Amino acid sequence: MPEVDAKTNTANKPKSAPQKAMEKLGLLRDIDLALHLPMRYEDETRLTPIGQTREGETVQCEGEVIECRVETRGRRVLLVRMEDESGDLLLRFIHFYPSHQKTMAVGQRIRVRGELRHGFFGREMVHPTFKAVSEDTPLATALTPVYPASNGLPQTYLRRAIASGLKRADLGELLPSGVVPPSLPSLRDALTFLHHPPAQARLMTLEDHSHPAWQRLKFEELLAQQISQMQAQRERALLKAPALKAQRGGLVEKLLGVLPFGLTGAQQRVSEEIAQELALPQPMHRLLQGDVGSGKTVVAALAAAVAIDAGWQCALMAPTEILAEQHFKKLIGWLEPLGLKVAWLTGSVKGKARQKMLDAAADGSAQLVIGTHAVIEDKVKFAKLGLAIIDEQHRFGVAQRLALRKKLASMDLEPHLLMMSATPIPRTLAMTYFADLAVSTIDELPPGRTPIVTKVFADSKRFNVIEKIHDEVANKGAQVYWVCPLIEESEALDLNNATETHAELSAALEGFAVGLLHGRMAPADKAAVMAEFSAGRTSVLVATTVIEVGVDVPNASLMVIEHAERFGLSQLHQLRGRVGRGAVASVCVLLYTGPLSDTGKSRLKAMAETNDGFEIARRDLEIRGPGEFMGARQSGAELLRFADLQEDSGLLQAARRLAPQLLDKYPQAARRQVERWLGSKAEFLKA
Ligand code: ADP
Ligand code: MG
Repeated sequence: MPEVDAKTNTANKPKSAPQKAMEKLGLLRDIDLALHLPMRYEDETRLTPIGQTREGETVQCEGEVIECRVETRGRRVLLVRMEDESGDLLLRFIHFYPSHQKTMAVGQRIRVRGELRHGFFGREMVHPTFKAVSEDTPLATALTPVYPASNGLPQTYLRRAIASGLKRADLGELLPSGVVPPSLPSLRDALTFLHHPPAQARLMTLEDHSHPAWQRLKFEELLAQQISQMQAQRERALLKAPALKAQRGGLVEKLLGVLPFGLTGAQQRVSEEIAQELALPQPMHRLLQGDVGSGKTVVAALAAAVAIDAGWQCALMAPTEILAEQHFKKLIGWLEPLGLKVAWLTGSVKGKARQKMLDAAADGSAQLVIGTHAVIEDKVKFAKLGLAIIDEQHRFGVAQRLALRKKLASMDLEPHLLMMSATPIPRTLAMTYFADLAVSTIDELPPGRTPIVTKVFADSKRFNVIEKIHDEVANKGAQVYWVCPLIEESEALDLNNATETHAELSAALEGFAVGLLHGRMAPADKAAVMAEFSAGRTSVLVATTVIEVGVDVPNASLMVIEHAERFGLSQLHQLRGRVGRGAVASVCVLLYTGPLSDTGKSRLKAMAETNDGFEIARRDLEIRGPGEFMGARQSGAELLRFADLQEDSGLLQAARRLAPQLLDKYPQAARRQVERWLGSKAEFLKA
């Protein structure tokens, strides 16, 4: 059980607004409070003589009020003038209460803190903090922490709560002596220092987190991560899975025989890696990563063939109906001629058809079940699920992956799990979050592809781009994707934009069919539009980002992405991967609406410079940080609060060395370390 703060645990008392705000921030346990660190500090440890204050500085001054009046011309403003031996200062309050005038009545001694401006009437401060003092009111002895807060949670309240949480929290040393790098303070000292740094502390090293106290925190956090990963790895090793071995001359060989192409070297290698692990009686937990278009589908089909050949079922799940359907079509094309039964299960399969699919999964007559999230619903039972494959794994949440693994729980076994992703995981991230994940990488594209040429244009060139499209469509029979921007949190606007563009292109390309695909369409309508485009009956497909993943139309050779500056790099790369799937040279045009920031420019430049998904993922991670990058894995929860994977790689290495030692020699301490730092999040890191 987590240690619950006694105050917040009194369930019957109604909670105050600040209490609720604290809960929302996850500040429940004493340790949570102790680990809620200041984002900056205010220096209330000294006074600056008014005459020595400088424009733009945030300073604290003390003196006597010599004037206090409300000006009523236009807006009511409270004006207070104070002075010390060195000069005088005007305070302006646009919002004020009668109590302001009482505290700052003429003759009162006050202490104020705020940003200094040189106004028309000399030195002034707008809305400084203020308090009444006497000659001997002491100054603060430590810097004043400013904490990340939210509406309805005043700093004063938070400061008090954190100070007492820090006192109560169990911060006893968990790590045996000698294992922490000697330059680092103890956890208790580090936290005490960071919450209340002495007046002479160097603000720079505090704020850029290079101070040893920060280093200690980062080290602790990374260590907890590493231990929890290693624990998950060891727990997984104890689980049992069916050992899936392909027969000689069986399905796998037959499948290879019907494929219209030979495997690339990389496809062969990863297929072998997968087959070898499937043959073991422990559940596989493997990521298959390969750039868009690298041919992951056939590798998945081969893995499925191994499982089926061994007498087990396989489930294949994709995040969208369109993508699931593409898999379905491709796989039945390969597998049905071999006599296999493939079931299709999505949200839009209803009634009798649905029941038939459910029965086929439950009685084992369907060897392969392909679908969307519908596959993991409770109602779906498998007779003998041996292998679960998840495409675009980052689109699925932790809970969903766990649910898939439980589909076989009744037999005391877990199915093998193969996850696929076109967004490769950079090494530092893999070391931190995916320590218990085996990775197979397809690092080679199928032969005969001509690389995609990417061009970046300002939106003012839109007309020329449309002319070019006309030319390609009319003279070369080309097919074109036009991707419309993602407008955050507004599906309606998205749609509006796509509809307008659709009308614009339809008018400009008279005589050619222009299709429209967007997120609000019913799945059946989406599929129909896709089918028209696949069959070549539509020349241009205007789409919102619903085409992001998996769509495979080899004849499409031109893609235009509008407002490219609004997309993430990996997303652009995924989108771009929809073209260049055939032998024709392909072009991707990135239209942007300026002015672009420097990062904005360098991002689009990166897209034009490289077609390498690994390189793009690396740059994307740099720009967006791991939280964003991992997307659904943590669904918003913070991953690393303090450590930074790039900057703190030295600490990460040290934590990696220490974690297994702790687990082996001090398992209690290891467990408490994880509990202290990750609490309930630890479970999630295992999925
Ligand atoms: P992704 O890795 O993006 O899922 P796909 O599996 O959709 O890629 O494959 C992209 C395209 O390449 C498909 O049309 C597929 O049939 C084709 N393909 C896959 N492997 C090969 C290969 N070894 N030789 C030729 N074409 C291949
Ligand atoms: Mg794919």
